[in-house]
Amino acid sequence: MNRVYNFSAGPSCLPLEALEKAQKELISYGSSGMSVMEMSHRSSDFQNIIDNCEALLRKLLNIGDNYKVLFLQGGASTQFAMVPLNLYKNKKTDYVLTGVWSKKAAKEAGRYGDVNVVASSEDKTFSYIPELSADMFSKDADYVHITHNNTIYGTRYTTLPDVGNVPLVADMSSSILSQEIDVNKFGIIYAGAQKNMAPAGLTVAIVREDLIGNALDITPTMLNYQTHADNGSMFNTPPTFAIYMCSLVCEWLDKLGGIKEIQKVNEYKAGLLYDFLDSSSMFKGTVEKKDRSLMNVPFVTDSDELNAKFIKEAKENGLVNLKGHRSVGGMRASIYNAMPVDGVKKLVEFMKKFETENK
Ligand code: PMP
Repeated sequence: MNRVYNFSAGPSCLPLEALEKAQKELISYGSSGMSVMEMSHRSSDFQNIIDNCEALLRKLLNIGDNYKVLFLQGGASTQFAMVPLNLYKNKKTDYVLTGVWSKKAAKEAGRYGDVNVVASSEDKTFSYIPELSADMFSKDADYVHITHNNTIYGTRYTTLPDVGNVPLVADMSSSILSQEIDVNKFGIIYAGAQKNMAPAGLTVAIVREDLIGNALDITPTMLNYQTHADNGSMFNTPPTFAIYMCSLVCEWLDKLGGIKEIQKVNEYKAGLLYDFLDSSSMFKGTVEKKDRSLMNVPFVTDSDELNAKFIKEAKENGLVNLKGHRSVGGMRASIYNAMPVDGVKKLVEFMKKFETENK
């Protein structure tokens, strides 16, 4: 098999076991005689798939009965609009800006109401998470929005801000299912699935029930959480195959021991890379140590030519998609749940060798 180690930020590698199971079932799922791709979303086979997917997500994330799990489309980017449209009452909200994605989210919310920027780390190219204290947040905000893990810059919140009784909304596109979280601390968690859950096309939103049903009048039917909550995510045709893949990924994760176990693996993998970066005289990490992401690890050398050479030679060695985001440059290794420990070990070995050869 000629599979590479794929460090893409998303869509990204999926667990081989899940892909192999999908391959086996691709042409005929169970006794249905057809592919999941060909199946009516109203069929009992598909209903079982989506029910199983929801049950696994609820188990893995320990989601309480007072939350709806919604299978949506339009990417995390559509949530940037859905959140304000559904949560605005006073039309006032607090955003913390920790990267391009939170800026985009804040801009979208600003189309419908007043966005207060509580704090921003843009002054240092989003290389840290700002210090946040309870008194910084508005008491009458409809919600507070954070980007839990910043895919491009490689930072994450290691503690959650104290927002009092105001609902906390988190974009967890690049951290969902990677570490233990207390869902009860959030009003809404949303994530584009194409990093840690499934192929592209599915967006998962975990929404506290009391936040459903108060959307602004201008809200399009498809952007109202109530529409999807009332119809079991089947108001229209959901992304059936991506939901099926999500269920296979969740099964894999569950078998592995769930979030607690994958978090240990993720900490180990990230540790291998960060330890090397801290000891290297050629490569260095780009963000404050205390805010380092477990999922996205950006790094640089001090020369653009060396960066380009590294990316090219890494690719020749089966380590692909290591080019950093265009706004940061350098390299970025995205090491989501499905990246095997061996892939990170190979990368670190290759970096060591490259450093020796290019001194
Ligand atoms: N938020 C974060 C943190 C992301 O990493 C991304 C995608 N890279 C997005 C939002 C946008 O997601 P989508 O493409 O699903 O709209």
